[in-house]
Amino acid sequence: MMAGTLLLERCNPYGAETGGPRRVMAGLYGPGSAVTPGMDLPANVAQGEWRCPQQAQVRVRMTCLCGHTGRVMNLCSWHEEFSERGEMVAGVIRKIREPILVRGHMEEIQRRQSSGCVRCMYPSGNGYDFAAAHKAIEAYQNQLGYLNEMSMWRSRQAADLRQKIEDMVKSFDSGIARGLIHRCPMRLIPVS
Ligand SMILES: [Zn+2]
Ligand SMILES: [Zn+2]
Ligand SMILES: [Zn+2]
Repeated sequence: MMAGTLLLERCNPYGAETGGPRRVMAGLYGPGSAVTPGMDLPANVAQGEWRCPQQAQVRVRMTCLCGHTGRVMNLCSWHEEFSERGEMVAGVIRKIREPILVRGHMEEIQRRQSSGCVRCMYPSGNGYDFAAAHKAIEAYQNQLGYLNEMSMWRSRQAADLRQKIEDMVKSFDSGIARGLIHRCPMRLIPVS
């Protein structure tokens, strides 16, 4: 779609030039982490060190079935790249440059983005905040790990933490049962 149209901006996959892929996860994991679970990205891409030399052709943003949207991204789409090969012509090897059509970041990102919408996975609303709950569980688990290392697994403190984790996991279970939490696929949708 729109192939051939060049925007003035350069292709900016994962926001490499504007803060990195942490934005992909809606900031859920905080600035200390650029993890992109389930996206199966090369390490340098996941760390946001990647640059794309292509000019952008499409303005798109991730949109889930419930209408949550991500940042607008300028991406390259299908484009021609030149491949070089040697060919024997009249007894001499001549270098042949041929254009081949390659996928752009639009197609690459769409193909990889199998993970669901973070806000549908960790919703917040009338008295619940599953993103906060998720972070709290992680924090409790870290504390529990520490107590375990200190040989305090059987302590009252550790028992309290285990209880808190159990309660939160139950709240997740009920969130899933009530349909509050769901996995929602995201698609790249063009914006103007
Ligand atoms: Zn949804
Ligand atoms: Zn690109
Ligand atoms: Zn959503």
